[in-house]
Amino acid sequence: MEPRAGDGRSGRRVEAGIGARDPRNTHIHACGAHRTEAWKFAFVGSKCTECGFISLPPARVCSRCNSIDQQSPVPLSDKPATVATYTIDRLAYSLSPPTVAAVLDFEGGGRYTCELTDVDPDAVEVGQRVELTFRRTVTAKHIHNYFWKARPIRGGQ
Ligand SMILES: [Zn+2]
Repeated sequence: MEPRAGDGRSGRRVEAGIGARDPRNTHIHACGAHRTEAWKFAFVGSKCTECGFISLPPARVCSRCNSIDQQSPVPLSDKPATVATYTIDRLAYSLSPPTVAAVLDFEGGGRYTCELTDVDPDAVEVGQRVELTFRRTVTAKHIHNYFWKARPIRGGQ
């Protein structure tokens, strides 16, 4: 199996990583439980009406107070976030390696782990301000998959 793939933008060849060499790695992103239109295409989480905790992805059960079905939708795709922590993975597949995975804290609440893009891995830092951007993640069986990544806010706001 060919271990490399083009990134589709610049025509350059990129290391696809160990996971991409696994012939079983032809999945489509987002498991059935998370494959809702509001979550996938608009990054709509849920906010507990009992305690205010924000779940990303949306959940029926609150992780803080355990209340059930007491959630209201909360759109976060246009909310800025702050990098709480991050790691650089030089083995995982990415269209723009190395993979920079970050835990983000959204303004107003909500925490989510996602990939950073359009970023210099050596310039990432805790406290950096980022915004979401809808990007291609993988192509499996000729189907392009998209989801939200985060990029530094231009101008550093
Ligand atoms: Zn709650």
